[in-house]
Amino acid sequence: MSLLKDSIRDVPDFPKKGILFKDITPLLKDGAAFRQAVDTLAEKLAGQKIDVLVGIESRGFIFSPVVAYKLNVGFVPVRKKGKLPHHTEAEAYTLEYGEAVLEIHKDAIARGARVAIIDDLLATGGTAVATAKLIEKLGGQVAAMGFLIELAFLNGRDKLTKYPVSSVITY
Ligand code: AMP
Repeated sequence: MSLLKDSIRDVPDFPKKGILFKDITPLLKDGAAFRQAVDTLAEKLAGQKIDVLVGIESRGFIFSPVVAYKLNVGFVPVRKKGKLPHHTEAEAYTLEYGEAVLEIHKDAIARGARVAIIDDLLATGGTAVATAKLIEKLGGQVAAMGFLIELAFLNGRDKLTKYPVSSVITY
């Protein structure tokens, strides 16, 4: 895990004062680290019955489709308001550094589908809760959540007690 931790860069006061931003771009450009990150995220879901993976814009889009490819399932994007072209379901949420609305295509998740959510980082958990609500509004079941990084001191897991949550690296 030190390969991964060593390739994540701390950027103080980004995007605003007081936030210590975990920059994953050094990890992404290192082939061995990127492979280890994707493989570990996929291992945590292996053996579970997962029908589809959901990824959250923007950095969730880097990992979720690659893990979906490895697990041989499809990928569904959850995007920020106004980006998806067809009929959408929407959910407002609060970020560690702001507020926003997330959307999913209404026909993206089949009723009863077992869905895993993948994102780069769990902070306060607001994004993950909003995404889970979108999936549940469509009749899907959130079977797992996987994060590359968990900022445990922000207690995001406390909001996610209904769901099986795993993370690769914890701070
Ligand atoms: P939250 O909803 O508070 O759990 O925030 C999670 C989302 O915000 C993830 O999609 C992250 O990409 C982003 N994020 C929040 N805090 C940070 C941070 N300190 N460093 C990097 N990304 C962050």
